[in-house]
Amino acid sequence: MDYKQIIRQVPGFPKPGINFIDVTTLLTNPQAMASAVKDLIAPYKASPPDRIVGIEARGFIFGAACALELGCGFVPARKPGKLPAATYTESYELEYGTDSIEMHQDAIAPGNKVLIVDDLIATGGTVEAVLKLLKKFDCEVVGIAGLVELTFLNGRAKFGDIPFHALVTYDSE
Ligand code: AMP
Repeated sequence: MDYKQIIRQVPGFPKPGINFIDVTTLLTNPQAMASAVKDLIAPYKASPPDRIVGIEARGFIFGAACALELGCGFVPARKPGKLPAATYTESYELEYGTDSIEMHQDAIAPGNKVLIVDDLIATGGTVEAVLKLLKKFDCEVVGIAGLVELTFLNGRAKFGDIPFHALVTYDSE
């Protein structure tokens, strides 16, 4: 499946200089979506994780679909103030200022195998924050899967030796 033919690029959104990778054109294509989910979970089919953590917001879409296919639980990693029960929080740096990410404390048990899923890895800062947050759960992160990787930002350097794969790469802006 040639995902690049299906994923839309919108130059100048949300501000000049950004080439926005718009995966909504893949979501409207059921064959492409089914293929993407199959390719995202392929390395984990033989030995599925206990949990998939999907990162708000587009990571929810792909993460939940992957969790259903693998028969494992899905855990949303959310922007602050959205989750109602007791949470763990991790803050991270943005280009301007900071943001934070939260997960329910009871969503992952000690020793659980966890796969992180997001739509797109740019600087890797968001996934890095989730990795720090997952340390509080005493779980085992078995991998990181993304639909798209912006390789020129080298986000994967932040993931250490955790296995990472992306279905589509963009080498320049
Ligand atoms: P980062 O923390 O830099 O890896 O950014 C990852 C998050 O920002 C992902 O969840 C993406 O949804 C979003 N993002 C960053 N850059 C882009 C882009 N060029 N097009 C679409 N989404 C982006």
